[in-house]
Amino acid sequence: MNTDVITTPAVLILLGPPGAGKGTQARMLEDAFGLVQLSTGDLLRAAVAAGTDAGKAAKAVMEAGGLVSDEIVIAILRDRLGEADCAKGVILDGFPRTTVQAEALDKLLSETGQKINAAVSLDVDDAAMVTRISGRYTCGNCGEGYHDTFKTPTKAGVCDKCGSTDFKRRADDNAETVGQRLAAYHEQTAPLIAYYSDKGVLKSVDAMGDIDAIAKALGAIVETATT
Ligand code: AMP
Repeated sequence: MNTDVITTPAVLILLGPPGAGKGTQARMLEDAFGLVQLSTGDLLRAAVAAGTDAGKAAKAVMEAGGLVSDEIVIAILRDRLGEADCAKGVILDGFPRTTVQAEALDKLLSETGQKINAAVSLDVDDAAMVTRISGRYTCGNCGEGYHDTFKTPTKAGVCDKCGSTDFKRRADDNAETVGQRLAAYHEQTAPLIAYYSDKGVLKSVDAMGDIDAIAKALGAIVETATT
């Protein structure tokens, strides 16, 4: 679609509580703009699965719905940002989640001469998030997101995108843990809305509606912020 629009490595941040649709929208922006989705949640789940030291330290915290230490997350993010494909520009999904992480990101970007094009807040009602999260699952092969109520595959049990019949649900997508994750968001991540507003890069999107309408609103923000 619009892969020629972006001329310098863009840095976009998606802010919002768990269930706001950050991952879904990041993947759509990846396809539309040729950017790379960088999800610290995905990176941490991979570290847990691989049994690395960082993964071992993160596992219990993630299962309880808390935030993994800034030190571990910043190190993982720094390593991933340094990989060649990120030179195309990145959409940060789930990072930063604390002021310490936001300041570390500013420092990392200043070292490479990059800047944040936009931090977009996906605005949602908390009450709806538990339903959204407890019904969601992804294709085990390509990562396409689905939901028991809001987005089922066209052919039951077969991924629309890649045809795989392997689906998975996240261990922390249960009602109990979601409450903790929402609390962590409000206590530690929501203050970043003011942080990015003060920097003049904050944008907001009403993220309660239709996925495609939200993607359109986000796409317009990305085009403006990157040209
Ligand atoms: P997510 O996939 O973004 O919902 O993240 C899943 C879990 O990974 C979170 O509930 C946290 O335990 C952990 N996590 C992901 N990103 C971060 C971050 N930036 N800082 C701290 N913990 C994180």
